[in-house]
Amino acid sequence: MNILVINAGSSSLKYQLLNPETQQVLAKGLCERIGIDGKFTYKPEGKEAVKEADVSMPTHNEAIKAVLDALVDPKNGVIGSMKEIDAVGHRVVHGGEKFAKSVLITDEVMAAIEECNPLAPLHNPANIIGIRACQDLMPGTPMVAVFDTAFHQTMPPAAYMYALPYEYYEKDKVRRYGFHGTSHKYVTQRAAAMLGKPIEELKLISCHLGNGSSIAAVDGGKSVDTSMGFTPLAGLPMGTRCGDIDAGILQYLMNKYGMDIDKMLNVLNKKSGVEGLSCVSSDFRDLEAAAGKGDRKAALAQEKFAYEVRKYVGAYAAAMGGVDAVIFTAGVGENDKTIRSMVCKGLDFMGLKLDDAANDVRGKETVISAADSKVKVLLIPTNEELMIAIDTAALAK
Ligand code: AMP
Repeated sequence: MNILVINAGSSSLKYQLLNPETQQVLAKGLCERIGIDGKFTYKPEGKEAVKEADVSMPTHNEAIKAVLDALVDPKNGVIGSMKEIDAVGHRVVHGGEKFAKSVLITDEVMAAIEECNPLAPLHNPANIIGIRACQDLMPGTPMVAVFDTAFHQTMPPAAYMYALPYEYYEKDKVRRYGFHGTSHKYVTQRAAAMLGKPIEELKLISCHLGNGSSIAAVDGGKSVDTSMGFTPLAGLPMGTRCGDIDAGILQYLMNKYGMDIDKMLNVLNKKSGVEGLSCVSSDFRDLEAAAGKGDRKAALAQEKFAYEVRKYVGAYAAAMGGVDAVIFTAGVGENDKTIRSMVCKGLDFMGLKLDDAANDVRGKETVISAADSKVKVLLIPTNEELMIAIDTAALAK
């Protein structure tokens, strides 16, 4: 079964054609600068990537048309015709409280996704445009929506409610939603497979540490708490996002510097996090290099990030009444042994011991805890596209 996975942004679109049963990726790529000057990248399996600039892509329709043309191209194509695409899986950022799992897209589902637009005004409208473009070009092909928020819909009210006037929840749906759900679901399923136990019997803490970072407490395969909140700005400090801060800071800084809320949020989203703190970069490779040369702020940014991750690990172990394994995933989690080591430092009190030699590894599914560590530490490369394709195939069947 071939599944086309689409992740549509406002001016870009990532795609992958893969077979979820064999996990073979037939082709993948990226359309960028949609509506501007159209850049197209296409990488068929086992062949050189094709890159084209100035491709006419006034809308997402032309971008998807370019993808489909490339997939069936006589020279570089990977399938004979579009009929060989069995279904399309769309990443949708926000499913609100309406979607607790992936769904086959119908007119009613489209209307419900649109109703979630105010909750993710930058993302959901773009996701919808991507779905519509595919529906136009591939009528009759089943389409599935896979939500970033769905996995966290199992959180209990004590975890998802904010201590705000109740009416803001009832009337305005202000609550913790959480994101990166597809990634947390994938790595926790893989963790159960690696540990050789049913997921129902496991308490797992999934650390998705990338440019955006979130942690999830997953008890018996269900998310029971997560660090991102109403928006992806909450929780850990990230590349450029501040994570949790005292809301009183907003009033103080806005008054002092005459900033309106948009300017303030731009600072919190784009100029904060490890970049803001280090004055060096949002990229952990640059922090490591600068800290190695004695840059104190870069070292502080690494320490702050690791400290906050460690606090969440402790908090979520308490929330679940124990933990069997801690999982590291995403760009930083998969590649940065220094951060992993800093996070795990001092956690022996709860039976978690890293094996320094085993931790000297990148991007590979492996156990990195010591043999006598009661809590296992796992490195698991995430694969959101595969998770989307698996859900899509199951629903399309
Ligand atoms: P993601 O958002 O999951 O794609 O993660 C991207 C981030 O991962 C980058 O901004 C870097 O901070 C980090 N990263 C990627 N490769 C490495 C590496 N080799 N060592 C440390 N950090 C890395």
